[in-house]
Amino acid sequence: MDFAAQRVVLSTHVSGWTDFDLCGFLRDLTGAPAIMDNDANAGAIGEAERGAGQGCSPLFYMTLSTGIGGGIYEGGRVWRGADSYGGEIGHLTIRPDGPQCLCGARGCFERMCCGLWLQRDHGRSAKELMQNADFVSRYVIDLTLGLKAAIMLLNPQRIVIGGGIAKAGDRLFVPLRRELRRQITSWSGARIDCVPALLGDDSVLYGALSLATA
Ligand SMILES: [Zn+2]
Repeated sequence: MDFAAQRVVLSTHVSGWTDFDLCGFLRDLTGAPAIMDNDANAGAIGEAERGAGQGCSPLFYMTLSTGIGGGIYEGGRVWRGADSYGGEIGHLTIRPDGPQCLCGARGCFERMCCGLWLQRDHGRSAKELMQNADFVSRYVIDLTLGLKAAIMLLNPQRIVIGGGIAKAGDRLFVPLRRELRRQITSWSGARIDCVPALLGDDSVLYGALSLATA
C-alpha cells in the first residue's frame, strides 16, 4: 500500500485490490474517518508501543503468517522508505534457484518460509509442521537467511516475530536463535535478540489503534 496516498496498490495474495481507495470506501460506508497501513507496519507499531518491542529502537517486526512482511520502527515511528515499500523482507531472494513466488521472482523469503507455501509444499499446515523438530531444524536455516539480512542491514535492538507461525514458541525460537548464531559468525557483534510477539493476534490491532488516535 501507499501510505502517503492512503491507497491499496495491490495484493499478491488476493485479487481485486489493485489501486483501491479502501479508506474512502470505509468512510462512505460508515461515515467515520479511516486510516490504514500495511499489517507488518501496524504490527511493528503495536509491538513497539505496547508489546515485546517496548523501549527497543530500532525494532524490526516480522509477521510470519500466510505471507511474510516486515516493519522497521525507529525513534517513535515506522521507517517507510521513499515509496512505502521499506521493510518488505518477504520478497528478499534467499534461494536464487528456488521455486517461483507469487511476485514472479524465484526463491523469495516468503516463498520458502510462509504458511501458504509450507501448506502447499508439504501438504500439512505450518502449525502441524512446527511440531516436528526435524522439520523445524531445516526450516530455521531458510528463516535465518532472511532474518540475517535484517540484522546485517539494521542491527536492530530486538526482532519481534508475530503471525501464526510464531505461536510455536520455543519449539521454533530455540533452534532459530541457535541457527542465527551459527550463520552470523563471530566477526559481528550485532546482538541476536529475537522473540515472539507479546500481543499475539492483537499486535496489528494495537498498531491500528495507535495510527487512528495519533
Ligand atoms: Zn516474491
